[in-house]
Amino acid sequence: MTTPGLEDARTAYEKLRAEGMKLDLTRGKPSAEQLDLATPMLSLLGAADFRAADGTDTRNYGGLHGLPELRALFAPFLQVPVEQLVASGNSSLEVMHDTLVHAMLSPLPGAERRWADEERVVFLAPVPGYDRHFSVCERLGIEMVTVPMTADGPDMAVVEELVATDPTIKGIWCVPKYSNPTGAVYSDETVRRLASMPTAAPDFRIIWDNAYTVHHLTDDEVEIADLLALATEAGNANRPFVIGSTSKITLAGAGVAFLGASAENIDWWLRLTSKRTIGPDKTNHLRHVRFLRDADGLREHMRKHREIIAPKFAAVDEVLTREFAGTPGVEWSKPVGGYFVTLTVPEGTATEIVRLAKEAGLALTPAGATHPYGEDPQDSTIRLAPTFPVLAEVRKAMEGVAVCVRLALAERG
Ligand code: PMP
Repeated sequence: MTTPGLEDARTAYEKLRAEGMKLDLTRGKPSAEQLDLATPMLSLLGAADFRAADGTDTRNYGGLHGLPELRALFAPFLQVPVEQLVASGNSSLEVMHDTLVHAMLSPLPGAERRWADEERVVFLAPVPGYDRHFSVCERLGIEMVTVPMTADGPDMAVVEELVATDPTIKGIWCVPKYSNPTGAVYSDETVRRLASMPTAAPDFRIIWDNAYTVHHLTDDEVEIADLLALATEAGNANRPFVIGSTSKITLAGAGVAFLGASAENIDWWLRLTSKRTIGPDKTNHLRHVRFLRDADGLREHMRKHREIIAPKFAAVDEVLTREFAGTPGVEWSKPVGGYFVTLTVPEGTATEIVRLAKEAGLALTPAGATHPYGEDPQDSTIRLAPTFPVLAEVRKAMEGVAVCVRLALAERG
């Protein structure tokens, strides 16, 4: 005997499968239409325009700190004093990876020894979180301990207790604004507590990955508290590494990454980085300045992104609301910025939903990717990334997701 609900759900799923769609909601990539916004940047500079404001020839070697005028443009958005902000290569993931590799191989300011000589190095991983952060830890043999995310950021009571007593805990991953994947914005209180909490490790670091600092989906340009200033005030100036990039502002493959920190941390980082490069691509830095111009230019450019992607997020919410409002155990985030929606499904069904979707030609981020080692103990979190497909496809893909969720719920009875 099968329930009528199950029969209907199976019929709907078979119909979906027969359509043979081929859609992808896996990665937070800008769409071609978004990339088109910044493509004119590629034609800037040229034979008569390659000098920085101070006369530097950007075509040549050097300038490890990055172009001053680009740093000045981004300093307020990343909440870092301009002299403590580095503009680097094209990927902030690379900056984070390298920073941890440097900490492994050379003692951080305040460290008793380099991390490679510690018996155990642990990072706190708020979950759900960003899979590539977790991969960096896995690669370097840094263990991860999960901490639950709340709407205000990581559960600070848990964080404070862990870091206060355990000197092997050397860091925490944070995406403080429009977090990947829940869209959460850290409250001022969370930021203040992170900045000031006592830690057993003298070389504890916060990787403050502010990847979505200007990526608003509404008129409300959300601001968060200034971690670096608060940590400095609390006597923990060396605690934050502030990270950002223009990957989702200009071109995802040809943007600029930033690193901000205390002067001591920046000196440490530049000294070590000088062993791996003679300097970043300053022509790309200059191109960014010419294209974005100033703070207003940057805001204006981000409004154009918003016009393209906000309707896609609205479509996700519209389909989920129509299909699942009031369904027990099915919830989703309603982000006001960033690139992701978190869909929470009843315990034990996420893997099955992703499998059903895949068989129907709809690629979703693997269940578990939002947790270290790819293991979501509840098997209930699915990350949706609606920016890349065109709007009609986002709606179609979400209708497909709904069919898969219905079937997984019906199968479970
Ligand atoms: N941090 C977060 C939180 C991200 O979501 C992403 C992109 N998905 C990155 C970093 C990668 O940034 P980049 O392109 O600068 O390496």
